Amino acid sequence: MKPQVVILGAGFAGHTAALHLCARLRGKADIHVVSPGNRFTWFPGLIWVGTDTMSPESCQFALAPVYERIGAAYQDARAVEIHPESNVVIVCDGDGSRETLDYDFCVNATGPCLNFDGTPGLGPRVGTTLSICTIEHAMQTRNEYVDLVRALHKGSRRRLVIGIGHPAATCEGAAFEYLMNVEADLQRRGVRDRAELVWLTNEPEAGDFGVDGIEARKRGVIATGASLVRMLLDERNIKTYMAAGVTKVDPGRVHFEQAGSDPASLDFDFAMFIPQFRGMPMKYVAADGHDITAEMTQPNGFMNVDADYTPKSYDNYAAADWPATYRSPRFEHLYAAGIAFAPPHPLSKPKKSPNGVAIQASVPRTGMASGIMGKTVALNIVDQIEGRAPTHQARMSEIPAACIASMGNSFFHGSAASIIMMPVARDFKRYPSYGRDLRLCELDVGLAGAWTKRALQSAFMWKLQGHPGWQLIPE
Ligand SMILES: Cc1cc2nc3c(=O)[nH]c(=O)nc-3n(C[C@H](O)[C@H](O)[C@H](O)COP(=O)(O)OP(=O)(O)OC[C@H]3O[C@@H](n4cnc5c(N)ncnc54)[C@H](O)[C@@H]3O)c2cc1C
Repeated sequence: MKPQVVILGAGFAGHTAALHLCARLRGKADIHVVSPGNRFTWFPGLIWVGTDTMSPESCQFALAPVYERIGAAYQDARAVEIHPESNVVIVCDGDGSRETLDYDFCVNATGPCLNFDGTPGLGPRVGTTLSICTIEHAMQTRNEYVDLVRALHKGSRRRLVIGIGHPAATCEGAAFEYLMNVEADLQRRGVRDRAELVWLTNEPEAGDFGVDGIEARKRGVIATGASLVRMLLDERNIKTYMAAGVTKVDPGRVHFEQAGSDPASLDFDFAMFIPQFRGMPMKYVAADGHDITAEMTQPNGFMNVDADYTPKSYDNYAAADWPATYRSPRFEHLYAAGIAFAPPHPLSKPKKSPNGVAIQASVPRTGMASGIMGKTVALNIVDQIEGRAPTHQARMSEIPAACIASMGNSFFHGSAASIIMMPVARDFKRYPSYGRDLRLCELDVGLAGAWTKRALQSAFMWKLQGHPGWQLIPE
């Protein structure tokens, strides 16, 4: 019997793992992908969907034909339980019928659960704030944005608040990019002067992005992401609230605690807030049937892997805390990759409001990092199937991140802030001055970044559909 590899989730991590496993194990293992909805979503494009400058169809493709072509089985279902002692997962399809799948290897790549409930009144389902975290949310945001632009054209004035909807949320880069695209789009449509723009974020300072900021050497001088982002916000006349943790939203009004200030609130006409991310609700069950979820996950619901989860103070965080292989410490046939794995700790500096609310950006696991983790897990499974111990490692304190925050979606008038950092999590033992290799770090703003962002979307949509030559495009 061929070994059975079950991948839960077909996003950046899971789908990348499936591509690499099929390429390396075709005929030698059965690859089975379980993911609801039969769609891959290119999340970076949702920024442009939310400003009505890109169609939703450009950001998605159907998974089933890709898996048929590359030789994987695809199941449109959702995993609800993992039984790691019995090597079994329970999946549930759209009708609610349950099925048991045996596995020899399992990859949990189920991404984030959008925890709107973590902030009372937040989100498009119960409240008046919008989101761009799913294709449906981005389309709803687009519709409201188009209505808002119509009102501005008629001479109304509006306040737009964009940012982070929970004191410990992550994904600040996506919210910032949406803010900058809204600003550029309002300029393009000639209504910017009637819109007041506000940036409200849990980051301790501008340009932190949940990774403790970024520095780069520019002509012998150290440039910081903080000064770059502060300049971008100031020259666009965007009001900012930093180290601000949203605690509640009433219709048209957001309440927040802020380090160094009294609690405050702000009226809005249009608001887009990223919610807190938690692990996808999933039960872990022992062979005797008892629930071992608390032993398998951190309190935020993300799955434990080979990280050091010993509680530490910010000054004692270490590069070696970060997981290397993404394998469960208890079950050698179970992995978690992408947003689904539990990070050992945040990277941003912690802050507290005078009322004691902890305000600390969580660590982002971006598309690039998730893809690298997906590939690493795939290669480790290949190692195990071929009788070796896992040899592939991708600690966040050893891998780079490249981010391009667009500021408008135009080949002629667009711009973007391009950031490269190496490594993502600072390693002060290896790089004593900044914790990063400044020879590899980059920080730039310009039209070239906007072109690169569009080119990357085309290249990655090609790669992720497994078209000829996909392996030549790196994660
Ligand atoms: C608006 C926005 C813009 C972004 N822009 C960028 C960017 O420019 N650059 C960048 O690097 N990153 C960007 N990101 C971050 C990037 O999208 C994430 O890092 C990436 O999607 C994480 O990959 P993942 O595989 O862990 O999760 P996902 O991509 O979310 O994939 C999770 C998969 O699991 C499936 N799933 C969920 N529950 C279950 C279940 N129970 N069983 C089985 N399957 C399940 C989901 O349907 C999905 O297919 C952006 C994010 C957002 C929201």
